Parts: sequence; structure tokens; C-alpha cells
Amino acid sequence: MGSKEKCTLCGETVELPFKSMKEWGIDGTLCGKCYSKKINEHYPGEHIRVNKHLD
Ligand SMILES: [Zn+2]
Repeated sequence: MGSKEKCTLCGETVELPFKSMKEWGIDGTLCGKCYSKKINEHYPGEHIRVNKHLD
């Protein structure tokens, strides 16, 4: 048993593990990269919605 987990998606050793969300259909640990990738896939525009009223 290693102390370090591996990313479910890319298989790389994860220094700082992120938990995947249920609705993503992924069981296991994600690395930061894959996590933010999934965030963007499932919640597109969440981060750039802030100034939309300025359009
Ligand atoms: Zn990964």
C-alpha cells in the first residue's frame, strides 16, 4: 500500500488529491489538472459569468 494516490483519469501520482463529484460518474481520486478540467466540462462558464451584465 502506497501512501500516494493515483489520478483515476491520467494515472499520475497525486500530490494533492481532489475528490470527484458523484455526477461526474468517476469513482476515485483526481489530480488538480483533471479536476479543473472536469469542472470546466460540467460547469462551463462558471468562472467567467461574473461580468456578464456588462455586455
Ligand atoms: Zn489527472
